[in-house]
Amino acid sequence: MADQRSKTRAGKRPVAAGGASELVFLALGGLGEIGMNCYLYGTGPADRREWLMVDIGITFPEGEFDPGVDVILPDLRFIEDEQINLAGIVITHAHEDHFGALIELWPRLKVPVYATPFTATLLKAKLAENGNRTKINIREIPVSSQFKVGAFDLEFVAVAHSVPEPQALVIKTADGKVLHTGDWKIEPTPYGSSTDTDGARLAQLGIEGIDAIICDSTNAMREGRSPSETDVAKSLAEQIGKCTGAVAITIFSSNVARIQAISDAARASGRQLIVAGRAMHRMIAVAIETGHLRKDFRSHDQDHFQHIAPEKALLLCTGSQGEPRAALSRIADNEHPVVKLTARDTVIFSSRTIPGNEKTVGRIQNKLVERGINIVTDNDALVHVTGHPRREELKEMYAWVKPKLAIPMHGEARHMAANAALAKAAGVPQVMVVRNGDIVRLAPGGGAVIDEAPTGRLYRDGRLLVESTEGPVRDRRKLAQVGIAVVSLVLDTKGQIAADPDVVLDGIPETDVNGHDVLDLVLDAIDNTLRSVPPKRRLDQDKIEDMVKKAVRSTIDHAWGKRPIVKVMTATVEAK
Ligand SMILES: [Zn+2]
Ligand SMILES: [Zn+2]
Repeated sequence: MADQRSKTRAGKRPVAAGGASELVFLALGGLGEIGMNCYLYGTGPADRREWLMVDIGITFPEGEFDPGVDVILPDLRFIEDEQINLAGIVITHAHEDHFGALIELWPRLKVPVYATPFTATLLKAKLAENGNRTKINIREIPVSSQFKVGAFDLEFVAVAHSVPEPQALVIKTADGKVLHTGDWKIEPTPYGSSTDTDGARLAQLGIEGIDAIICDSTNAMREGRSPSETDVAKSLAEQIGKCTGAVAITIFSSNVARIQAISDAARASGRQLIVAGRAMHRMIAVAIETGHLRKDFRSHDQDHFQHIAPEKALLLCTGSQGEPRAALSRIADNEHPVVKLTARDTVIFSSRTIPGNEKTVGRIQNKLVERGINIVTDNDALVHVTGHPRREELKEMYAWVKPKLAIPMHGEARHMAANAALAKAAGVPQVMVVRNGDIVRLAPGGGAVIDEAPTGRLYRDGRLLVESTEGPVRDRRKLAQVGIAVVSLVLDTKGQIAADPDVVLDGIPETDVNGHDVLDLVLDAIDNTLRSVPPKRRLDQDKIEDMVKKAVRSTIDHAWGKRPIVKVMTATVEAK
């Protein structure tokens, strides 16, 4: 695989031997990471390939590695260049890591978007909140149905997950047939409107013949089977039943079955359901509209919290990942305008902490505990389950589908390796672990990496999208580590020093280990450098600035042991 890669060049068009027609797979995000899912399937000969996009998600920045970044989106360069050959975008389910980049990046692609009624309605609600500035061509496709997009014959197969209407996607072309699992698990006892993974249909597809499966790896390192959402509902009702004061529960707002379970627990414990957070209100409205919450679903806005006794309140709120502006963070800081919790109250974390958010979630939990508030997490009781398949469930999938080729997705390297080993042990004849950017032939003739496409990340930085590799975020990362020295020189048109140099040091220590003033050391270094060059040669501005820059950097390195960013600017004045 590595050999094949080294022979190709990023960005070069894929070339198949003899221009044969093939079914190919390419991830622009989602391999080697959990997040930013964005996959492409192509059919036809390399020079006349038609493409289908499956999902277009975001991922979240990792604190100090991405200073000032709000959200990370996939770099779509490859398919933007091929836009004319892109037939459409299919969304498997309404999680941010699968559809969160759509609204921002759709204007670069402008092709129809296919989604189930719940996902489509949620998308429209988000667009409306943005003032409908983007008009996306959204086509609603019923769950478990067949449809056609360009040269692709598609079929949604219902799976179980942690959001309404999750779908696996069967992609059939003249060149082969692939199952893209999306995010899934097996759920024998679904709660609320959820359904189980359609094993019967998957087994049927296995009999008909599947060339390749692209499969969720998130929990491939976890033994056994994942617990059921119905068990969580029971356990939540038990936990709430034991509480004497107010109860606040934080969940992922898209987990509508969990919202139904919490509403049912409120009723069973004689509490009133109160909802805080805009995302939660939007989700509930969309879920009622699309039939995923029962018609008799009742909730109150957060203002109601002040009007009832604490033991009558069950507060459902956003902020399970420690988001600073969300309801839970403000409650923990005791800065929420209406919701005040006290020492006899309880907060239940009915969610998983996404890796990278441990510190912020921990901070909120510590604040609550310091104030004597009882907290319940999934370490204490069954108050959350995963939406992804553990090992026994993965085995079942491979047994149903009996693919000729398996490619793990939706996992970091270790999760994908575990899924690959499991697929092999389950008897899949060919298993390939590939990376974002690998163009992989799936069929006919077995899997192979045949080329490489450019991939990358875009950072949402304020109101702009910037590239991650060369962009301002890289400079900020460096600034945060080493600080900056800014030097201003004033020379005249004969190269004489017309004024004393000016220096600003930011983020750099004031004195060295011997107590010498770093600013004085820097000024001396500049002075020596300028004087070492005859006036005439100082007229070469680039050269003199470069010399000063090097002198300042090495002086600070000598004093501090770190090399800062140095900027030198020269003003030129008329010689007297
Ligand atoms: Zn998901
Ligand atoms: Zn996902």
